[in-house]
Amino acid sequence: MPQVSASTLVTIGKSIFVAAGAPDDIAHDVANSLVETNLSGHDSHGIIRVMLYVDMIRNRDLLPSARPQLRQGSGAIASLDCRRGFGQIGAQVGTAMAAELAHEHGIGCVALENVNHVGRLGEYAESLARKRMVGIVLTSGTVVRVSVAPWGGREPLMSTNPMAWALPAGTGDTPFVLDYATAVVANGKVQVALSEGRAFPEGMLLDRDGNPTTDPASFLNGGMLLPFGTYKGHGLSLMMELIPGILCGFSPVSSTRFRSGNPTLILALNIEAFAEPELFREQTQEFLERIKAVAPADGFDEVLLPGEKEQRSKAERSRTGIPLPRIVWNELCDLAAAYGVDVPEDPVAA
Ligand code: NAD
Repeated sequence: MPQVSASTLVTIGKSIFVAAGAPDDIAHDVANSLVETNLSGHDSHGIIRVMLYVDMIRNRDLLPSARPQLRQGSGAIASLDCRRGFGQIGAQVGTAMAAELAHEHGIGCVALENVNHVGRLGEYAESLARKRMVGIVLTSGTVVRVSVAPWGGREPLMSTNPMAWALPAGTGDTPFVLDYATAVVANGKVQVALSEGRAFPEGMLLDRDGNPTTDPASFLNGGMLLPFGTYKGHGLSLMMELIPGILCGFSPVSSTRFRSGNPTLILALNIEAFAEPELFREQTQEFLERIKAVAPADGFDEVLLPGEKEQRSKAERSRTGIPLPRIVWNELCDLAAAYGVDVPEDPVAA
């Protein structure tokens, strides 16, 4: 498997986006967001998405030079028209806007309309936590396919509906971050399992007839994912389908009115408007340390906190490079060649 450095992947991704019509700054910010996602270990939402986004640009589903515009705002809330540009840009601008609103009002809430795929939600929640806020990001919709069956059912009627939560902890610059789909996993993880030739764990996938399967290929053939956590995740999944979807001007994915996209609601709570920020950080840190100190149960090496896997992955991959399945690396190089983009010599690529 080629191991490619983050900087090489950003350069390739950025150059492809520029060649496909994106301005320099947008191309860089989107490529960087994708590669940060690889660094955090979520390859399903990383550089592999360049191929999808370029297809969307070619179909005019994604307008690479579009920049978000405020559609309406009142008090602590705003609706941002992302104008079918890159979702990452809409979400980055929306996050900055939510932080400004929260500075002024104690709370800020921004709804992203006409927004494309936003990628890894943790990025936005985390950036609010770095500003000493609680960040909550709720997303529904899809640019790929309707893929999640309700608990107890055998027909996909929902999206993977992810959410991210982040808050400042301790004295360092590393927030406490929870970031996942309310489906058992993100859609893209099935693709990644396929490209790596791996079967899926039991209890996650149904085939097109609603029978349990571990074969990721059956997902491409009309199969579906389940919500996480049986009926509890199912309930959350339903709420997530409705709240960001409708508040952002979209409809549930099962509706004939649904348009492709990733409706996203960004919520910022300014801690100092509610509590003493140092006490908040201190208590959060103490609590997390108590959780980490719990003796592991049989079959576990340690109690892991949300966010720890991503931090460890980032530390390792920043050092060793990002392992890309050969098929993904080849597709990326082919796309680069089609746009006349040089693939730089990379000391880590093998
Ligand atoms: P996942 O199932 O890998 O779960 C990730 C979360 O669980 C992280 O917070 C991680 O730290 C935590 N975690 C993992 N193992 C743990 C353990 N053993 N103990 C404690 N915590 C643990 O993630 P996913 O649902 O496949 O989502 C992956 C990424 O895809 C996320 O970044 C998400 O935002 C993104 N996503 C985006 C969309 C979209 O439409 N834009 C859709 C789905 C997912």
